[in-house]
Amino acid sequence: MNDEVLQRIQQVYGVENWSAGYFDISSKGHILVRPGKDDPRYVDLKELVDDLLSKHKLQMPLLIRFPQLLTSQLRALSGAYQSAISQYGFSGLHYPVFPMKVNPRREVVEEFLRESGRLRVGLECGSKAELYAAIAQEQTPESLLLCNGFKDEVFVRTALLGVQAGKRVTIIVEKLNELKMVIKLAGQLGVAPWIGLRAKLYSRGSGKWASSGGDSAKFGLTTSELLDCVRLLRETKLDGQLKLLHFHIGSQITDIKRVKNAMKEAARVYAKLRQIGCGIEFLDIGGGLGVDYDGSQTRFESSVNYTVQEFANDVVYVIKQVCDEENVPHPNLVTESGRFMTAYHTVFITSIRDEIETFAEDKPEITIDADDPQVITELKDLCDGINGKNYAEYYHDALEHKDELHTQFNLGLISLEDRAKGEVLFWEACARALKESEEDKFPDDEFESLKKILAQKYLCNFSLFRSAPDSWAIKQLFPIVPIHRLNENPSDFATLVDVTCDSDGKIDKFVDLKDVKETLELHKWKVGDDYYLGIFLVGAYQEVMGSHHNLFGNPNEAQVVIDSDGRYHVTKLVHGSRINDMLVFARYDRAQLVESYRKQVTARVEAGALSKETAAQLVVEYEAGALRGTYLE
Ligand SMILES: *Cc1c(COP(=O)(O)O)cnc(C)c1O
Repeated sequence: MNDEVLQRIQQVYGVENWSAGYFDISSKGHILVRPGKDDPRYVDLKELVDDLLSKHKLQMPLLIRFPQLLTSQLRALSGAYQSAISQYGFSGLHYPVFPMKVNPRREVVEEFLRESGRLRVGLECGSKAELYAAIAQEQTPESLLLCNGFKDEVFVRTALLGVQAGKRVTIIVEKLNELKMVIKLAGQLGVAPWIGLRAKLYSRGSGKWASSGGDSAKFGLTTSELLDCVRLLRETKLDGQLKLLHFHIGSQITDIKRVKNAMKEAARVYAKLRQIGCGIEFLDIGGGLGVDYDGSQTRFESSVNYTVQEFANDVVYVIKQVCDEENVPHPNLVTESGRFMTAYHTVFITSIRDEIETFAEDKPEITIDADDPQVITELKDLCDGINGKNYAEYYHDALEHKDELHTQFNLGLISLEDRAKGEVLFWEACARALKESEEDKFPDDEFESLKKILAQKYLCNFSLFRSAPDSWAIKQLFPIVPIHRLNENPSDFATLVDVTCDSDGKIDKFVDLKDVKETLELHKWKVGDDYYLGIFLVGAYQEVMGSHHNLFGNPNEAQVVIDSDGRYHVTKLVHGSRINDMLVFARYDRAQLVESYRKQVTARVEAGALSKETAAQLVVEYEAGALRGTYLE
């Protein structure tokens, strides 16, 4: 590949900045996915997608899951803690726990538990449904099964089923009343779980989830409640079950300083509890280990200013220091990092279907007739006269003329043809002004916005609300890159819109090293071209938080594994939602719908508007339609 093109492609999409060694660009200009960091083996993503579409007959959009990336991230996490533990002479062990709310899919949970024996991987649940799935999983006896969140009696009874099955089920108490209930049920059933206490820290995280910590946090026990719990456990002789101290200061902590502060506070709480005789053996530091979505390595919301090794080093070092100072044993360290372990493992693929017109491109030149209204002749003069010196002034004039055009139209003074002509001229003037501004060293900010307005709007076959909801809900950035043609210079600027009827269903913020881009560089595209975009790092939270807005359901899904020879295997295909699935979701009944439709066409037959045969065909077609996919075919 031409070096200059490659350089520009790297600069535009920043793949090496956010890829963490898993994604790369081939000399053919295709995106490659590696099963491990800098692993020599890879899948050519474009070839894989072609295969899924032709050989496996899947349709766009596609969710592709690479379970090997889960294991690789787990090993990266575990390795970072192992190395910090040995570097600082820490005597506790690391217990990685996977918080199910981040991605509760069976494929994900089972993949992590495969490593359970080697790395002591456990699970964390925050609801009865998660717990129900978790207690039946095979996990190594040494690993933990943590119960967080608000609990009722059924939750606690389910947890006790897990204790009876020999699991280290730990109920993490969020409220004093919860502890009372646990004690009561344990007494009735004669089984006691391990108990953890969730502390409310004064320290906060940073970024979007800063309010998960601090005084007003939703979860956790205040200092006096912590002491009440300890007292209550002693009174009921269950203090031997108190094994763990937990806290969680929020997800995607962007600033490492916050981590250190929280660790200092938490380690101190642990040490003081040890000193008053609590036999706590595990310190659970929660999640918060972030993902560098934009690759900028900064404190920006979609980034983090640390590596996993730095995070682990700070955690281990600070906790060791405090424990040594307070003369208490080092605890085992439990981490609940979900985002870090799962974000990389899925890639979402969508295709460009069409273009939304803002202004008329490639329209024949407008000619002025003698009887054209003045506003149009003036717009034409403006358009023809724009140059490097006057472009800003002329652009402002054009804006005024456009207002005038619409005022006159609303007053009934000009025709629909006039209005059309005026609009074409206005956009032409904008395009020319923008072009001149690009030659200018210091163009005004308004031309940056104009660039966005004039950018192509591509209609992509997916629902943002289903497949990348955080892009809408919290303005989180995900890297988006065409998975092919990366050996050509991308010469267009675009924003993306999805197929929902929601004007929020759009992406107009893109990752950039220094800033947030408002348009994405893409290649020239015309109707009929296959052009596939990958949305990367969507493995955490997106699948489970996605909604059925507009009744677009799940996309088609493929699970792909790369073998030791570097060949890939599609190990699982899951068909996306069909129309009928979405009808059931919205509580329709297909048989009843068909019957109702049949009644209506029968009435038309009786009225002589349809033949019997046509009516019968229509019903067949209507009925069969329920089995089609929900996205554009
Ligand atoms: C959500 C959550 C996590 C996961 O946090 P990440 O930042 O995704 O790692 C861990 N622990 C608790 C208690 C949570 O609520």
